[in-house]
Amino acid sequence: MSDSVATTPMTPRPTVLRGGTVLTMDDRHSVLAGADVLVVDDRVAAVGTALDVPEGTLEIDASGGIVMPGMIDTHRHMWQTAMRGYGADWTLTQYFVWYYLEHGKAFRPQDVYAGNLLSAWDALEAGVTTTVDWSHGLQTVDHAEAAADALQEVPGRFVLAYGNIQAGPWEWTADKAVQSFLQRRRASAGDLLGFQLAFDVTGDPSFPERAAFEVARDLGLAVTTHAGVWGATNDAGIRLMFDNGFMTPETVYVHAASLTTDSYQRIAATGGSVSVSTESEQSAGQGYPATWQVRRYDIPVSLSMDTSVWWSGDLFSAMRTTLGADRSREHLEAHARGDTVTHVHLRAEHVVDWATRGGARVLGRGDLGRLEPGAKADVVLIKNDRSPVSFPLLNPYGHVAFQAQRGDVHTVIVDGRVVKHEHRLVGVDLAALRRTVDATVEHLRSDLGEEQWDKDMFPDLPEGDEVLDNPYQYTEYKSDTTRGARGTVFGEPGAGR
Ligand SMILES: [Zn+2]
Repeated sequence: MSDSVATTPMTPRPTVLRGGTVLTMDDRHSVLAGADVLVVDDRVAAVGTALDVPEGTLEIDASGGIVMPGMIDTHRHMWQTAMRGYGADWTLTQYFVWYYLEHGKAFRPQDVYAGNLLSAWDALEAGVTTTVDWSHGLQTVDHAEAAADALQEVPGRFVLAYGNIQAGPWEWTADKAVQSFLQRRRASAGDLLGFQLAFDVTGDPSFPERAAFEVARDLGLAVTTHAGVWGATNDAGIRLMFDNGFMTPETVYVHAASLTTDSYQRIAATGGSVSVSTESEQSAGQGYPATWQVRRYDIPVSLSMDTSVWWSGDLFSAMRTTLGADRSREHLEAHARGDTVTHVHLRAEHVVDWATRGGARVLGRGDLGRLEPGAKADVVLIKNDRSPVSFPLLNPYGHVAFQAQRGDVHTVIVDGRVVKHEHRLVGVDLAALRRTVDATVEHLRSDLGEEQWDKDMFPDLPEGDEVLDNPYQYTEYKSDTTRGARGTVFGEPGAGR
């Protein structure tokens, strides 16, 4: 065995996880102690104690561990994983400048492929069995083919949310080549690859995004949109979507962090959901992570990690930071009134729900995010016999949210197939993957030049408390939360319609 792991995918056969603490995430959130989960073909066949299993079943000892549904990340710019950690000290403005204005165009199809391939394995390694690839670097259909190819090479479940930051959504969605790509790849994709359209709504009163929503409707694709992003999108975009009938139960509002009550009520009334990227909102500056607000309106929540140009790709981080941000806000709001919070509202159980069932709900996949007979067999075993953190196991939801981490993911099953076993990915060639990613890093680095590469990774702080203009804006249109914008990406909104 090389520095990678076994390169032969395991032959699909029935698999049973024996004697674990099972978080079924069924409607009653049943937790079963010392229970088995039997997987046959692509489905959960049975959940219970001392199950009889077919001959030849792979037996996995889950004792001392937690068995739960595979986690679901509803918003991740997977192509950016090839730049892992590069932007750790960025703000959202620096991110926009780097990708949207300056260097996003430098990504070739093979670079999108490299990022997606790395991110896809990264997700599986962390027990994230479904990831929405919010793929807004698709400047040509060749880029899109590369993105989809990578996702289909990895044995996980993915949704390609097609986007292109180098053109207005009304422009690229009108491209017949894009539409035929979506129809063709969708027809041949099977159950493991879904599709959405990914674009943002600026709040321009002429609503140029209408054309893109119409394409989504014609193709029967859900729209996922960065909403409530300080300085970029706001209530005006939500109002336009609402007034024009484009807020549907399938619509996913990513961040939804700097919106007012009106917008939350519109999202609630139309049955949409939010994808909260707490780690992103906290350090990039979209606004305060929205769970403390949206749970008041009963808006369905799912979790996401956004991009590995800053953060990791594991939902343990998402669960942990979301609990922290929500509780922090609850305490601070109370302190401002002179009160003390004696009981927190948001529980560990809630964030585990959001990381599993919540994602399934957002994707309209009632067969994911739960361990019940008939559900799709996307299963995670958290168990690490070599770690003192694995015991005592007293509060399983709390253990998942606050104690566990990626290295504790022992087994991952997607669609009935074991893709990680005994802490090692099955069927990955990490050495080859590293070479693929290295070639992309090399390309970008030489494209920028050594000096620029370093300068962009470690942005200088301006002298004193000087406030700089925000050099990025989606369009010429100035929304009411953006000031001092001077850059533009798409040119005149409405052009190209
Ligand atoms: Zn995003």
